[in-house]
Amino acid sequence: MILLRDLSRPGKRGFRVPFSDVPKPSVDKYPEEHLLRKGKIGLPEVTEPEVMRHFVNISTMNHHLDKGFYPLGSCTMKYNPKINDVTASMPGFTELHPLMPDNLVQGALEIYFELAEFLSDIAGMHSTTIQPAAGAHGEFTGLLVVREYLKDQGNMRKKVLIPDSAHGTNPASIVFAGWEPVGVPSDERGMVSPDVLKEYLDEDVAMVMLTNPSTLGIFEEHIIEIADMVHAVGAQLYMDGANMNALLGRVRPGDIGFDVMHYNLHKTFSTPHGGGGPGSGPVAVKEHLAPYLPTPVVDYRDDKFILDFDRPLSIGRVQAFWGAFTVAVRAYTYIMMHGAEGLKRISEGAVTNANYLKHLMDNTPFKVKYDHTPMHEFVLSGSPFKDYGVKTVDIAKRILDYGFHAPTVYFPLIVSEALMIEPTETESKETLECFAETLKKIAEEAKENPEILHEAPKTTPVRRLDDVLAIKNPILRWQDME
Ligand SMILES: *Cc1c(COP(=O)(O)O)cnc(C)c1O
Repeated sequence: MILLRDLSRPGKRGFRVPFSDVPKPSVDKYPEEHLLRKGKIGLPEVTEPEVMRHFVNISTMNHHLDKGFYPLGSCTMKYNPKINDVTASMPGFTELHPLMPDNLVQGALEIYFELAEFLSDIAGMHSTTIQPAAGAHGEFTGLLVVREYLKDQGNMRKKVLIPDSAHGTNPASIVFAGWEPVGVPSDERGMVSPDVLKEYLDEDVAMVMLTNPSTLGIFEEHIIEIADMVHAVGAQLYMDGANMNALLGRVRPGDIGFDVMHYNLHKTFSTPHGGGGPGSGPVAVKEHLAPYLPTPVVDYRDDKFILDFDRPLSIGRVQAFWGAFTVAVRAYTYIMMHGAEGLKRISEGAVTNANYLKHLMDNTPFKVKYDHTPMHEFVLSGSPFKDYGVKTVDIAKRILDYGFHAPTVYFPLIVSEALMIEPTETESKETLECFAETLKKIAEEAKENPEILHEAPKTTPVRRLDDVLAIKNPILRWQDME
């Protein structure tokens, strides 16, 4: 790859400014002379068109949502409306400093306050904090909140139950919060069964953590019964809300028995994520957990928005300053733009699109382990292609050659050779049909000419990467690149 500094030639410049007739200040006026830069700054010397072309070219090397379909299961890669960026770039927002006094940032505090109210309403919960920086951080925050709550009750307990389809961040967050994660096997339909759960539930269980719909795209049918069982042993019920795209405006987690949940604003509420931007993982809780939420809490008193630090039971701060503010502005914009009716249409579109795409994949060699009417995503298995020496990773790499991003692969762990597909509501019927045709074509290639799949991808800027080497020996500084 060409770096901007490779294009640098002495004397080239993007624009010229008139010579200054202001005399240069003498260096000895500065007692901190040792702080002055000794040599040249060493910036690349390039023209404006070179800079422009360099960045436009780079922007096309990676796949992204503005370039094409991105059916990444679990992660909700939906198109991010540009109006979100317009509002988030308003100087009134971008020129704020986190240490400005409350009375100068009333608008920003109002955004936080109202967004928290919206998120509480959508969740069917009492209060919401917008501090956590991502979903995993939201899980951690939610766990700490519950931990403090149980501690106050004089019973911290020992373990947290998660289904075997859980996202990897769930057990990690549980360990970080000081508990032991215990996996509960799913039943033959891919659900958490009350009969199985019963075996695991006892007075040592602090919390049960579920994703609903699950990472298999299945709505947990027994959720009300499960919630009653969990509460009967004095434990709390947590919802990993990464899949809220399937529920928006239709099901409120608080109404079906959950005590605490996190959102992923960068998934459900359309703010760029992955390499494209920071995340945000607000946590919504029922009233009994509200006093434990992180401080400061944005409140409205005497006609004024304030930052309330005076919360004796709070777990304290979970991040520097107030959270990823422009992500909050984007999510706020998105919610305001859609309104209550629009949010309902989002979940309707997400579920309809997943069902249509799954229908198009019926009667193809791809296998479905848990056959069901999906919610917003579904999981295929590439195991039938093993007969031709083709693995799911080969299929995923071949998908790149056709101009799509690959689905999530090898997750959830309970489906062998998994391909987890989430089309989202922002894709057209034509795109879904084109993707289905591509998968069918790849299925034929796997049978007739598996070599093509083994050699894929061929059309991407880099070919198949050595994932293991990349993890064992990451090169993170440009100085270390060849
Ligand atoms: C994405 C995701 C998470 C973690 O969220 P991050 O924002 O990536 O930290 C947790 N659970 C599920 C089901 C997810 O899809």
